[in-house]
Amino acid sequence: MLLNVEKTTHANFDGYIEALKRLVRIPSISFDNFDQKFVQQSAEAVKAMFEEAGLKNVQLLLPPSGRATVYAESLTSPDKPTILLYAHHDVQPTMREALWNSAPFEPEIRGDRIYGRGTADDKAGIITHLAAFKQARELLGDKGPNLKFIIEGEEESGSAGFAEILREHAKLLKCDAVIVADLGNFAKGTPSITTTLRGMSAVNITLRSTKTPLHSGSWSGPIPDPAQALCRMIASLTDEHGNIAIPNFEDGLVPPTPEELESYRSLGYSEKTFRSESGVLNKVSLTVPEGEILESLWRRPSIVVTAMESGNRSSAGNVLQDCAYARIGIRLAPGMNADRCSQMLVDFLKAQVPNGLEFTAEIEDGANPFVTDTQHPFFRKMSEAMAQAYKNDTKFIGCGASIPGAELFRKTFGDIPILLTGLEDPECAAHGENESLYLPDFEAGIVAETLFFMSLA
Ligand SMILES: [Zn+2]
Repeated sequence: MLLNVEKTTHANFDGYIEALKRLVRIPSISFDNFDQKFVQQSAEAVKAMFEEAGLKNVQLLLPPSGRATVYAESLTSPDKPTILLYAHHDVQPTMREALWNSAPFEPEIRGDRIYGRGTADDKAGIITHLAAFKQARELLGDKGPNLKFIIEGEEESGSAGFAEILREHAKLLKCDAVIVADLGNFAKGTPSITTTLRGMSAVNITLRSTKTPLHSGSWSGPIPDPAQALCRMIASLTDEHGNIAIPNFEDGLVPPTPEELESYRSLGYSEKTFRSESGVLNKVSLTVPEGEILESLWRRPSIVVTAMESGNRSSAGNVLQDCAYARIGIRLAPGMNADRCSQMLVDFLKAQVPNGLEFTAEIEDGANPFVTDTQHPFFRKMSEAMAQAYKNDTKFIGCGASIPGAELFRKTFGDIPILLTGLEDPECAAHGENESLYLPDFEAGIVAETLFFMSLA
């Protein structure tokens, strides 16, 4: 069986790469200040691929944002389990385009990787699902599981409408398990299933002292500087070791079990690897010891200032600025709640505003953290399929990032297995410049998902 699947995948792999390229060429950035016609174009392209592959009931589901999610299905028998296959067709902006070695939306293969925005995150996820479906159908006929595809159009911009889609179409999407192909492998060639995700939230804070910027010579001294005031407030969020100082902020946090800690340790992750993968400067010391790096990334909260502004560098002059702005991002560990934590952070900052400065806070839509129970037999089947395909042990890992969809699936379908797989790896630069996909893992990922479908026949 393995040999058959490997042969089929290998024979068709060039075609899968071509299909991936077709999707990557569409700049489907789902942020408001980019042209949303490309998100529509990308949804149409996925829809056309699904139709061409013979999937049924192919349709676009439209959330209020208008960023279409694509649905399709292949139903074999009511006696067979139904697997919902999730990926997303929207992408992040390109960041600093000058740093790309090839045009972000003109996919290019260099060595064993293909470069382009959306190659790894998450257009490879779409092609993996589609390829595995085609291959399982070729090898099994209609003896395979029922498959339903749900390819989201606004994952990168917060999934606000996706919750509504799940609510509205819960019946259409009903399933026994979900494969979310939007995560990644712990390392190249190390097949991984993610069992926890951090949540996220962000608040936008503005602190204002005057109606307009003022000549600093004529006015500074008596009037408090909003930039310094905001910096002091932000600095109070954590102590000198990086621990969060907001009282009760971590209430409810679910610590990793001894088994989970053991599994993290079995990955043998060193500070050296972490340093080289993250690019942290040599002289910069970390806030945790080597043995706690993964736990810190996956199971503890963090607060970072994602943007700050007061005046701007290109027109800096001798000015007392009228206001200062910061966007503060929170990563939440499993057990914590996004709404509660963002409100606590705002209240904590507000209580410290000096000199009666005007304080405004805007809380963005957050995503709750996610944790799944790996006891269901599907986890074993997937883990075995991946081990066979990659010819390497499958690891259960955590992830420091957020996928709002995972928790939404949990809410919609109850306690069914949610398998978080995917093709990112530490070199893939998802969300950064020169995003890429490691081609041998792309191929192994398709083999693995095909084998998983066959194990359900
Ligand atoms: Zn993604």
